[in-house]
Amino acid sequence: MKLQSKIALLLIPLVVIPLLAVGWIAYTQLRETTERKAFDEMTTVMHQLEQHTQTLVQTATANIELFSKSNILKQYLLTSDEWERYAVMQGPLLRLFTSYQQAYPQYREIRVLLPDGYEDTRLAVEGLDNLNEDESGTAIFQAMQHSRNDVYTDIFRNPDDQGISLLVSKRIRLRDDNKDPIASEPIVRGYLTITISLEFFDWELSEHLIHHRHHHGLLFFTDADGKILFHPDAAMKQQVLPEQFFNTLRTLAHAPEQVHTHDEHLLKTAYQGEATLFMGQQLHDRLFLFAQLPESELLAASRRLGLVVMAITLLAIVLTAALLFAFLRHTLVRPILHLSRITKEFGRGNLTLEIDVASNDEVGELAQSFKDMRQNLQSSNEQIRYLAYHDHLTALPNRLMFNDFLEHSLGRARRASETLALLYIDLDNFKRINDTLGHHAGDELLTLLAQRLRSSLRQEDYLARPESERDTDTVARVGGDEFTIILPSIKSPYAAASVATRVLEMLSHPFSVGPHEIFITVSIGITTYPQDADNAEALVKNADVAMYHAKELGKNNYQYYSESMNVAALERLTLENRLRGALERDELLLHYQPLVDARTQRITGVEALIRWQHPDLGLIPPAQFIPLAEESGLIVPIGEWVLRTACQQMKQWRDAGMNKLRMSVNLSNQQFRREPLDSVIEGILDETGLPPECLEVELTESSIIQSEKTAAKMLAAIKKLGVHIALDDFGTGYSSLSYLRRFPIDTLKIDRSFVRDIVSDQEDAAIISAIIAMAETLSLSVTAEGVEELQQFEFLRDNGCDTIQGFLFSRPVPPEERERLLQQPVMLAG
Ligand code: C2E
Ligand code: CA
Ligand code: CA
Repeated sequence: MKLQSKIALLLIPLVVIPLLAVGWIAYTQLRETTERKAFDEMTTVMHQLEQHTQTLVQTATANIELFSKSNILKQYLLTSDEWERYAVMQGPLLRLFTSYQQAYPQYREIRVLLPDGYEDTRLAVEGLDNLNEDESGTAIFQAMQHSRNDVYTDIFRNPDDQGISLLVSKRIRLRDDNKDPIASEPIVRGYLTITISLEFFDWELSEHLIHHRHHHGLLFFTDADGKILFHPDAAMKQQVLPEQFFNTLRTLAHAPEQVHTHDEHLLKTAYQGEATLFMGQQLHDRLFLFAQLPESELLAASRRLGLVVMAITLLAIVLTAALLFAFLRHTLVRPILHLSRITKEFGRGNLTLEIDVASNDEVGELAQSFKDMRQNLQSSNEQIRYLAYHDHLTALPNRLMFNDFLEHSLGRARRASETLALLYIDLDNFKRINDTLGHHAGDELLTLLAQRLRSSLRQEDYLARPESERDTDTVARVGGDEFTIILPSIKSPYAAASVATRVLEMLSHPFSVGPHEIFITVSIGITTYPQDADNAEALVKNADVAMYHAKELGKNNYQYYSESMNVAALERLTLENRLRGALERDELLLHYQPLVDARTQRITGVEALIRWQHPDLGLIPPAQFIPLAEESGLIVPIGEWVLRTACQQMKQWRDAGMNKLRMSVNLSNQQFRREPLDSVIEGILDETGLPPECLEVELTESSIIQSEKTAAKMLAAIKKLGVHIALDDFGTGYSSLSYLRRFPIDTLKIDRSFVRDIVSDQEDAAIISAIIAMAETLSLSVTAEGVEELQQFEFLRDNGCDTIQGFLFSRPVPPEERERLLQQPVMLAG
C-alpha cells in the first residue's frame, strides 16, 4: 500500500472519530437545550397563567372581605322589613356595587344571596340576563353553604351566559344588636358573591399560540372532572377527557405555587395516535392547566439541528483532513517520493541529481544522509573507476585504459589526419631480476621504472605538436614487464624515435632497489598510424613485432615496424645529433635572395635563407633540417642566430652605403609561440643597431591560427617595435579576408605554388589577381615568390603585384656575392 493511502487510512479515524464525537456531543447538548427551551417556554406561560389566576383569586378574596365589611351591606342584611330593605336600602347597596364594578370591570355579577339560596340583590354587567333567581338547588350554592370557610371560591359555568367563571363568595354572619341576645353568636344573614368571567383565558391561549408559533404545542384548561374548559381549538371545548387519562394527567399537576422542573412532571404518552408530552399545573381546586407538546415537534427541531451539526462536522472533517493531508504531503510524502526517485537514479548510477529537500527535521536529516551517501558513492565510484583503469602497483593506466585510449586517440588522429605513434616497451631480462632478487625487488623496480617512463614524456614532446591538438601522451603498463606509450599526435613518424631514444637514455642510469644498484635495458617497438596500420589491433601487433625485432637485434634499442622507417630514422637521428653541434661548430650560414620592385626593378630588400654546411653531406637545404630542428627544439637557438646574423649583415650593408634595403627573416611557429619574441627582436635590433623599419619578419598562417589571441598580442607587440610583418606562403592555408583584418600585417607573400603555373593555368592566374585585388583593398603590399620566368614577372607586374622574388632575378646567394650584386640596379629586358 502506498504511503499516501496509509496516511489517509490513519488520518480518517484520527480526524473523523474525534470530530464525530464532538459533533455528537454538540448535537445532544443542543438538542437538550432546544427541548429545555421549549419546555421552559411552556412552563413560563403556565406559570404566568397560574400567577394570573392566583392574583385574580386573591384580589377577589380580598375584595370580598372588604366588601363584606361595608356598613350599607350589614344594615341591608339586618333590615328585616322587606319594604324598607328593597325600597330604602337596596338603592344605596346597588350604587355601592356599581362603584365596585366600576373599579373591577371583570366582576360580571355582584350578588347577595339569602341563606336559603334566594338571589336577593344582583348587579350584573349589561346583557347578562338573570335566568335563575333561586340558587338553593344548585351544586355551587350547596358547596357554598357547606364550605368550612366563610370565603368560598369555585370555578363554574355561569348558567346565565354559560361562560366559565370564577365565583368568590363570603358567608356573612351578623348579630343584630337590637334584637339578638347579648353575647349570642352572629348568625348567617346571607352570602355576598362575585362572579368573574374567565373567558379571557381563551384570548390568552390564542395569544400564547401566536407568540410561540414555532412550537405546535398548546395549552388547555380543564375542570376537576377532566372537562375541557379552554382550548385554542374551539371544537375541543366542552369535551371531557377519558377518565383514566385525566387521572394520569392530574398526577402531573402541581398544587398552585409549587416550584417544578419539567423533567419530573413530564408525561410522555400516546395521545390521538401521536407520542405527546404533557405538563400540568393546578391553578385552583377545580381548575387545571395542561401543556401539550407533540414529540414529533421536538424531534423535527432536533433533526434540523442534527442536520446542521452534521453538515458542520462534515465540513470540519473535510477541511481538517485536507489540511493535515496537505501538510503531511508537503513535509513527508513529497520529500520521500523525491528521495525514492533519487535512490532509483542512484541505482542506475546517476549521481548528478539535485537533492532539494531543505527542512531541519528528520526528513531533512534523511536528505542530508542521502547527500552524504551520494558523495560517498561518487568517491567510491571514482575509486572503482580508478582501480578498474589503473595498475595497482605502478598507478599507471592498465591495459583496459590503454585500449580505450588507443581507440580514442586513433579516432581523433583519423579525423584530424594526424600521425599517431605507439611504442611497445619490454624489459630485457626482467625474469632474471625477479629470480635473483625476489618479486618484492622486482615490484619496486617496476614502480621506479614507471616513474621514469612517465617523466620521459617531457614538455618538448608537447611542443613538437600543434598546440590545439595536444593530447596527452600516455604511458601504460599492459603486462608484467611490458609498457606502452601512445603519442597521439606527432608531426612526423620520426618524433617517436626521439621519444624512444630518450627512454633508452633515461633507463641507462642505474636504479637503486634496496641495497642493490640495478642496471636494466628495454627493447622498444614503434609503429605509426597511418603509415603502418589503420586500426588499434593491427597497431598493437605491429608494435609487438617491432619490439621482438629490437630484441633480436641485441636488445636495448628501438625498432620501427617498417624497415624503411628504420633506415630513415637512423639517418635522421644521425643528422639530428649532428645538428645539435652545428651552431657551435659554425656550420650554419645564411644566403640572401633579393626582392625586387616590380615597377622600378630595383632591389628593395633581401630574404635571409638558412643553409647547413655539413662536413660530409655538403650544403644541406633548410627543408631537410628545419623540421628536425623544430622537433628537437633546436629551432629556438638556431632561429635567434639567424635573426642576429641577418640583422648584423643588413647593418653592415647599410653602413656600406646601401640604404633603403629591408631584411626579411623567416620565423618558425615554435619561435613565435615559445619566446617573448618581441623582446628577443628588440634585443637584437639594439645589439646590432639596425633600425626596426629595416627588418621584416615572415610568419606562416599556421603560426597565427593556432592561438589567435596570443598571436594578435605578439604581432601587435612586434608591430609596435616598428618591424614589418609579412605573411609567408599565402594561399596555402586559410587565406580568409576577415581573418587577415584582425592582424597588423604589412605584406602578403604569394606562395610559390601559385606563381609556378600562372602563365599556363587560368585558375591560378585568377587566384593571383584576386589575391592582389584583395590585398589592395586591405592596403597590404604583395610579394610573389618563385618567379622564374619573364612571362610570370610580366603577368604579376601587370596585375599590380608590388614585389618580385625569384630565380629570374637571383638565386639565394652567399653575402659576399650579394654585396657585389646589390650595388647595381637589376634591369631586365622587356
Ligand atoms: P620560403 O620562406 O618560402 O623561402 C623561399 C624559398 O623559395 C627558398 O628556399 C628559396 O630558395 C626558394 N626560391 C626562391 N626563388 C625561387 C624560384 O624562383 N624557384 C624556386 N624553385 N625556388 C625559389 P629555401 O632557401 O630552400 O628555403 C626553404 C624554406 O625553408 C623557406 O621557405 C623557409 O620556410 C624555410 N627557411 C629558410 N631559412 C629559414 C630560416 O632562417 N628560419 C626558418 N625558420 N625557416 C627558414
Ligand atoms: Ca620566407
Ligand atoms: Ca615562402
